[in-house]
Amino acid sequence: MLADRNTYKLLTPGPLTTTPTVKDAMQIDRCTWDKDYNDITQDIRSRLIRLAHADEKDYTAVLMQGSGTFGVESVLTSIPGHDDTVLVLVNGAYSKRMLEILSYQEIKHQKLEFAWDEIPDAAKVDAYLNEHPEIKMVAMVHSETTSGLLNDIAAVAKVVKAHGLLFVVDAMSSFGGVDINVPELGIDFIVSSANKCIQGVLGFSFVVARRDALENSRGNARSLSLDLYAQYLTMEQHGGKWRFTSPTHVVAAFHQALQELDAEGGINARHERYAKCNQLLRQGMDALGFKAYIAAEHQGPIITTFFYPDNFKVDFPAMHAYLKQHGYVIYPGKLTDAETFRLGNIGEIYPEDVTKIVALFKAYVEAQHV
Ligand SMILES: *Cc1c(COP(=O)(O)O)cnc(C)c1O
Repeated sequence: MLADRNTYKLLTPGPLTTTPTVKDAMQIDRCTWDKDYNDITQDIRSRLIRLAHADEKDYTAVLMQGSGTFGVESVLTSIPGHDDTVLVLVNGAYSKRMLEILSYQEIKHQKLEFAWDEIPDAAKVDAYLNEHPEIKMVAMVHSETTSGLLNDIAAVAKVVKAHGLLFVVDAMSSFGGVDINVPELGIDFIVSSANKCIQGVLGFSFVVARRDALENSRGNARSLSLDLYAQYLTMEQHGGKWRFTSPTHVVAAFHQALQELDAEGGINARHERYAKCNQLLRQGMDALGFKAYIAAEHQGPIITTFFYPDNFKVDFPAMHAYLKQHGYVIYPGKLTDAETFRLGNIGEIYPEDVTKIVALFKAYVEAQHV
């Protein structure tokens, strides 16, 4: 057994706490031209397609250097044609980021906004699309890491497909931790990154894409380095070669993480662990007076946004320091209109950790009242 040198665990959804064996996979320096390294990329691509329940005939997986945003930007700037309009469903910071990406490249876009604690209503999306035949593509976030909300992509997918449009999903913080049948939903492009529910380390993002939609986008890219079609073509024609220097250590760690996901029992087993931890966390924190921002029915299993209890001396840096000293690193809130903080429970976090975390909050609250 490898020793774990971490002195604390991360309750932040990427970077997150990885296993010692995932970190150990980075101890070998590999050459980007070697077949054994490119074979790792090919195996990763096949595994991602399988995790999406897709078939290699219809779908492909493309890896892209950079953090998750680079993957989203790669899709949003490589796929729409020059006169195409993209509709973004907005209910958090990450869907707002999609708008920002489209604005930078002056790609025509519209937004349909919802409250940050509400899921986009498929009937409203349908009504909007009926009035806007110029829209060619709809983009939304699955797990809004801003709040912890899990959007209903299946309901929206049905509407988008009925209108015959392309559907893009940012499943950054859900892919691998929440089962998504990509072909069944008709998703054309789904984006995630190495350092979220697959539990790898940071350094690249990936896109599971419908081949014909990707191939139809040839020539549309607005950026050289984020050209999704060009990256796909190189990976296809050169046996898993990336176009530009790839993060070899991170790729190896991700390959190990994918095998560990299988060993845990796959996405459903991992989802069960995450959901259990999340439920215990919500219950434990609620009992201490920390109410969750998202109603239980829309709460995702990844991260929870908490309000502070009444009469609580809010001092995030002090609370952060206390918890870190006792082995856990917490996350600031990302809501614009209320004071909150967030606890992620993905990565190497187990129900035993949740018990410890809740006990630490209890001690922290009690120390305030002595
Ligand atoms: C993490 C995350 C991203 C990407 O953020 P990066 O900092 O670029 O990795 C995008 N969307 C969602 C929903 C995320 O959780």
